[in-house]
Amino acid sequence: MTYFADLSPYTYLAEVEEPALNVGWLDAGHDFTRGPVPDEFVAALAERVVGKQVHLTRGWHRCNLGGCAHPDRPVARSGGAEQVLGFAEVRAIGTDKTAYAAPTLVHHYVVEHGYRPPDEFIAAIRGR
Ligand SMILES: [Zn+2]
Repeated sequence: MTYFADLSPYTYLAEVEEPALNVGWLDAGHDFTRGPVPDEFVAALAERVVGKQVHLTRGWHRCNLGGCAHPDRPVARSGGAEQVLGFAEVRAIGTDKTAYAAPTLVHHYVVEHGYRPPDEFIAAIRGR
């Protein structure tokens, strides 16, 4: 997995020119924030990664966090649809127009590893 610190400027795909801040680019070599997140956020994030993924990434990202039960093909489910995670990104726009760029694996990190993304990303995904 490619690591970027939360809220650092997005630079991963050079062809993507819209400015954004990184969220959820976790890696086993770096600690991350853990904590509870609202259920509505998890549901909205699932809907986003299943239905609105963008920017296919270079190759396949697998989860390399310690103790992972589903490192190779984690999936998210929403509205009866299922999406394998790890090869695309999602975007969220905050009320101040800040854009956030997250790998679709962010859903897996939240659900299975207790990752708590920055509050501004949680608010942006929830649409307020
Ligand atoms: Zn994992």
